[in-house]
Amino acid sequence: MDLMYASTRDANVKVTASQAVLKGLSDDGGLFVPDRIPLLDVSLKDLAGMSYQETAYAVMKQFLTDFTEEELKDCINKAYDSKFDTAEIAPVVQADGIYFLELFHGATIAFKDMALSILPHLLTTSARKNNVTNEIVILTATSGDTGKAALSGFADVKGTKIAVFYPKNGVSPIQEKQMVTQTGANTFVAGIHGNFDEAQTGVKKMFSDKAFAKELASYGYQLSSANSINIGRLVPQIVYYVYAYAKLLEKGEIKEGEYINAAVPTGNFGNILAAYYAKNMGLPIAKLICASNENKVLYDFFETGTYDKNREFILTSSPSMDILISSNLERLIYRIAGNSAQKNAEFMQQLNTQGVYSISEEMKAGLKDFYGNYASEAETAQTIKELYDKTGYVLDTHTAVAAAVCRKYQAATGDMTKIIAASTASPFKFTRSVMNAIHPSYNSESDFELADELSRIAGIKIPKAIEEIRTAKVLHHTECEPEQMPEAVKKFLGI
Ligand SMILES: *Cc1c(COP(=O)(O)O)cnc(C)c1O
Repeated sequence: MDLMYASTRDANVKVTASQAVLKGLSDDGGLFVPDRIPLLDVSLKDLAGMSYQETAYAVMKQFLTDFTEEELKDCINKAYDSKFDTAEIAPVVQADGIYFLELFHGATIAFKDMALSILPHLLTTSARKNNVTNEIVILTATSGDTGKAALSGFADVKGTKIAVFYPKNGVSPIQEKQMVTQTGANTFVAGIHGNFDEAQTGVKKMFSDKAFAKELASYGYQLSSANSINIGRLVPQIVYYVYAYAKLLEKGEIKEGEYINAAVPTGNFGNILAAYYAKNMGLPIAKLICASNENKVLYDFFETGTYDKNREFILTSSPSMDILISSNLERLIYRIAGNSAQKNAEFMQQLNTQGVYSISEEMKAGLKDFYGNYASEAETAQTIKELYDKTGYVLDTHTAVAAAVCRKYQAATGDMTKIIAASTASPFKFTRSVMNAIHPSYNSESDFELADELSRIAGIKIPKAIEEIRTAKVLHHTECEPEQMPEAVKKFLGI
């Protein structure tokens, strides 16, 4: 029988994969979850010989069961092509005993490219399958990384338009330049006079404004989201864990069936949840090592069983993990509550109203596959420096959080099982923090000068994504107040 998707908050909801991709979020505010985790139906040995694209098909076909073979392969081939700067798409590099799974070879040099390169194709295919003839308009609020990855993924994709709002003074100069130089006739970027929360609230308001939706529909448009809770982002992320395991097997680094641990620098809990799904598909993963920065809400949760977002929000050198509400954790909560939408909805209600909830002892037992810890700013910087001094390999700040937590895990447990660590960004995306960690004297130069120096000391070429924006023309000049966002969208759509 076809796999169906349920809502984490309403037991009566059942939709197909393509409907879940189209909708993004269930009407009850819940997240879509597969009604069972399918098992891999290809042996690890067979996977070992496969390309990234072949692996993607073997994994994704198990989840997106209402897509035809032709449809899914077409999406995969359009996504994982020369946009990536390596034919392997996600190479595994060993440094100081850890296998780093490099997920930053896509167009915007962060791991969000892994899913956002395919989401536009999954979405347009889903629209076709469900006889949606409207043009899909993607609205995104971003604190930096997601906006660019979404723009890059949706640029020039037929049947879609994308509008991105970012806080005018709340992103790094490189991040802003990446966005405002975006090409593609179907793209729109605006800096708002406000912070990220205001951008996010503005976008959410447009999503829930029925009159706005009606007006758009009369012009042949409907809204959708590229947010990380869409299963169209989650499912493609399972692929690279399977691929990494198969590559280690192919290279003889591990034996067939040998268990490995997976370490993931975590913010919204999407990437590590994908690793958990991979484990549940039968991939031999023992522990899932969940690494946080100083915003260690998840570490505290794994320690105590209490999730408490009532705390100070700390700005760190790994900004993509500066998050106090890890949205995708809801999918794990639902599962360890025995797939109970009712229980999960109660927890989420408590989170909404009081900012805190505590799970039962019985539910805590369901967390045994996870180990949580965190790295301080000093530990993160020290990890970058030590690994560089020892091996010459340079980590970005997010990956360094994971590496630091790997060492804490090994010291605390004595478990020396081989570890695959998700490497979520190129060091060139966070050049200043990375270079500062390597030596404090690196800080007077401009970001581009620092990139040149990083390229020199690490012996790696500056990625195209950085090289391009050095001279690229600014194409987006719009600035607006948060309350003017709907007007800006209408103007972009010619309404
Ligand atoms: C988004 C992001 C993360 C966090 O991933 P989640 O799926 O949100 O847990 C980690 N590192 C980088 C570089 C990111 O962009």
